[in-house]
Amino acid sequence: MKPGRVCVVGSINMDLVVGTPRLPAPGETILGGPFTTHPGGKGANQAVAARRMGAEVAMIGRVGDDAHGAQLQRLLADEGIDTTHVHALSGEATGVALITVDSATGENTIVVAGGANQQLTTADVESAYEGIAASDVLLMQLEVPLEAVMAAACLGRESGASVILNAAPAAALPEELLRILDVLIVNESEAALLAGAAVGEEEPEALARTLRDKGPASVVLTLGARGALHWNGDIVRTVSALEVNPLDTVAAGDAFAGALAAGLASGLSMEAALRRAAAAGSLATTKAGAIPSLPTRTAVEAALTR
Ligand code: ADP
Repeated sequence: MKPGRVCVVGSINMDLVVGTPRLPAPGETILGGPFTTHPGGKGANQAVAARRMGAEVAMIGRVGDDAHGAQLQRLLADEGIDTTHVHALSGEATGVALITVDSATGENTIVVAGGANQQLTTADVESAYEGIAASDVLLMQLEVPLEAVMAAACLGRESGASVILNAAPAAALPEELLRILDVLIVNESEAALLAGAAVGEEEPEALARTLRDKGPASVVLTLGARGALHWNGDIVRTVSALEVNPLDTVAAGDAFAGALAAGLASGLSMEAALRRAAAAGSLATTKAGAIPSLPTRTAVEAALTR
């Protein structure tokens, strides 16, 4: 199988996580700890996921000129990701997610400060055109400005790449963007928001049909432990998840999206790429954290032959 080429346009964050005996009330200070930092951001996670599944990956994104930015650039490069188009913006902070976790209940609060991610412009994306033009698949999410996503999608279509959007975090999307997509990937809550329905109100297949009517050539709906469903206007494909004992579902969706992009870029059929993506998502739930939980192609292939 040839390694496909995937270009990811998206966010790069550092997650700052502190454990606390209970979540503070407004105005309250409490002593917490331990404190840990974890690389993240849906863009970076999906780039690493696609890379570990064997794709050649180039990333387009922005970090700040701070220690987090340098650390994240190094991490991506160490994974073997082309960071030519990941620039550090002077005077900007790298995106961070400030996360407090109640040590007793596991409940959390999260505030994301997008920082440099929010500074990715149409012009930045256009100046990285060669990165998009050289790829088989363009993969995007919604943690960078919508205008940058739109610009990338247009360039992807122009250059003949398959254009995939993981519409996360959930947001309403303009029809011009939806019409460009070859594949729209959403989980059930993102799908419900886009369809204007309540979560659980529509059956997955009906939801996928509603979303495809809005413009994308095909829709992949991920269904957690129930796997995923694909609708291309012609046939409905369903794929099972692996039976696993989930430890933490963080980045399951990112593992799925990265693996799907890597599979399609390498020339796999949608059916085969979906099977790998679902398995990658399932394996990601068996390990803690985001990037540490993203599986390799070897691990996914081994799980699928078991
Ligand atoms: P998100 O993480 O974006 O909410 P999902 O929860 O739908 O997305 O998970 C993405 C994929 O990860 C699923 O399609 C499935 O393959 C896998 N997955 C997620 N949760 C589980 C689980 N509890 N057991 C097995 N596989 C899972």
